Amino acid sequence: MDCIFCKIISGDIPSTKVYEDDKVLAFNDIDPKAPFHVIVIPKKHIVSAADITSENSHYISAVYEAIAKIAKENNLENGFRVVNNCGEDGGQTVGHIHFHLLARRNLAWPPG
Ligand code: AMP
Ligand code: ZN
Repeated sequence: MDCIFCKIISGDIPSTKVYEDDKVLAFNDIDPKAPFHVIVIPKKHIVSAADITSENSHYISAVYEAIAKIAKENNLENGFRVVNNCGEDGGQTVGHIHFHLLARRNLAWPPG
């Protein structure tokens, strides 16, 4: 399958791994938008938030459990932001659902 995040899961494309379990992989974003910027993905090719169903939503809860662990392991006690861009207007550029975990700077709200 021609999906860069599936290729990162399979190891065909290298990444700097931050966290891994049976359902989730997290790695450093190649173009960081904050001092801490990790991409968290399910190890299943779900295209976007618009494709979450009762059959695959256990992968999404696993993503959020992983986020809580990554935040603790990396001492993000000052807070963080989780961003999921969905579809063209949402700014999604990779068609494998992913969650940006951003931290270590004051993040503006509302986002642009
Ligand atoms: P989005 O624009 O929400 O679809 O986010 C895609 C993110 O994936 C961007 O922040 C990219 O910098 C990041 N990205 C793309 N290719 C890679 C890669 N090979 N390794 C790590 N991050 C990547
Ligand atoms: Zn994929």
